[in-house]
Amino acid sequence: MESKIGIMGGTFNPIHLGHLILAEEARNNLNLDKVIFIPTGTPPHKKRTSVLNPLYRYEMAVLATADNPYFQVSPIEINKEGISYTIDTIKYLKKIYTNSTLYFITGADSLVDICSWKNASELLRLCKFATAKRREISNDKLESTVNEINQTYGESVYLLSTPYIEISSTDIRNRVKSGKSIKYYVSNNVESYIVKNNIYK
Ligand code: ATP
Ligand code: MG
Repeated sequence: MESKIGIMGGTFNPIHLGHLILAEEARNNLNLDKVIFIPTGTPPHKKRTSVLNPLYRYEMAVLATADNPYFQVSPIEINKEGISYTIDTIKYLKKIYTNSTLYFITGADSLVDICSWKNASELLRLCKFATAKRREISNDKLESTVNEINQTYGESVYLLSTPYIEISSTDIRNRVKSGKSIKYYVSNNVESYIVKNNIYK
């Protein structure tokens, strides 16, 4: 039987409730069989030095998703040398899941700059998108992007009606640095992991 798989890519530096709610909303709304979280290796859009050791980011993703039977974490990008591009990951997953529709789960901020991604048009042909609105992206901007994509590639973008959750990894790192609490921003086990390993100080 054909299955539907969500792919949640991100730096996850660290993974937070915004990521988890987005993934769960996508799973629930689109009836996905599972969601695979894929922490990036060296993300093409971020400076290498500003990104925490991939193993920490991977382990935090494993902890945060442990209580959801539909969630998995894959180390494919962090195990790869050099830059990981979404297109390469999606092509790889297409080979494994030959009978599945892949849904790449993103925030609207990522979707609107998709044209700058490597092989964007091929990517848009290979997978669909499940996208949450973000406050910093206006409805007009988002709508025109979605219309443009859907006209060219068929109905490939599905807009999720998630609430705005204004949590970002950047803010969490800043909070830790300045000694503020991150309780309820991240899962309990991720909070403990950050304390135990003394990261973001
Ligand atoms: P940073 O602050 O370091 O940029 P981030 O919180 O934006 O981190 P990323 O790992 O860059 O997290 O995000 C991965 C994906 O999750 C992106 O598609 C992004 O749009 C989405 N995302 C991140 N935070 C939220 C949120 N609060 N609500 C909805 N989507 C989010
Ligand atoms: Mg971001």
